[in-house]
Amino acid sequence: MKSKCFFSHEDISKKIIRITGISGEMMYLIKGSKRNVLIDCGVGIGHLREYINNSIGIDADSVILTHGHIDHIGGAAEFEHVYINPLDNELARSYMTKEKQLAHLYMCGIDSKNFEVEDYCEFKGIHFEDIIPGQLIDLGDVKLHVLDAHGHTKGQVAILIPDERVLIAGDSCNSFVFLFLQEATTVKEYKEMLEEMRRKTNGSYDRVLVCHGSGEEDKDIISKVIDVCDDIMGGRSDDIPFSLFGQSGYIAKAVGENNVRLDGGSGNIVYNGVATV
Ligand SMILES: [Zn+2]
Repeated sequence: MKSKCFFSHEDISKKIIRITGISGEMMYLIKGSKRNVLIDCGVGIGHLREYINNSIGIDADSVILTHGHIDHIGGAAEFEHVYINPLDNELARSYMTKEKQLAHLYMCGIDSKNFEVEDYCEFKGIHFEDIIPGQLIDLGDVKLHVLDAHGHTKGQVAILIPDERVLIAGDSCNSFVFLFLQEATTVKEYKEMLEEMRRKTNGSYDRVLVCHGSGEEDKDIISKVIDVCDDIMGGRSDDIPFSLFGQSGYIAKAVGENNVRLDGGSGNIVYNGVATV
């Protein structure tokens, strides 16, 4: 079947499967005894529901969107229930366009000529249902804790799965956090969120799963990124100019190839050059 070539998957644990889409974007399928839920749904190239049915052999009728960016929401129309923090509703609607989809593919160096019209997911008929930080989602023998993780976007959430000792951070905290787009918060507000997330999740996970790069970060990535926030606010950042699609920012810690930090540290932030306002 044609859609198969757009995705691949691997087991993370007995209950968690990582699915990778065409631009390297990652989603997580959580298998519960009562129901299965997908966390994020990629950029919308290829038909994900069909892939889950045919290649993984189960079904999921619901998707939780960690935030409103196109590489996380593109396949939403294939699911009966689409959950998102209402603070990101408007952002998600603004990203659900063919233009944003193509822009993302271009940024990832993917030639859209490779795709047929039927490979693109549609954005019609999507009804968002609210998901609120603090909510508990019961899948039977596995429970998902929805956490506030705002900063990258105002409505970003992370999912803690204590039963699996896993934190799914989405784009909220990783080795190269984007905090320079219009929808991001200040570094100060972001740091306060990270401190709260660290406090709430302390001792309840061993693995941090993310949606880009290798898909996994060090267990102490939250503390590492908090240190970067402190360096920015304390005037100790390198501030290397960076730009993407007409929006510009600064990379807090100088990097070499593959965005590896030159000082040997881990965690990094691209921000708009203003730490607190
Ligand atoms: Zn994002």
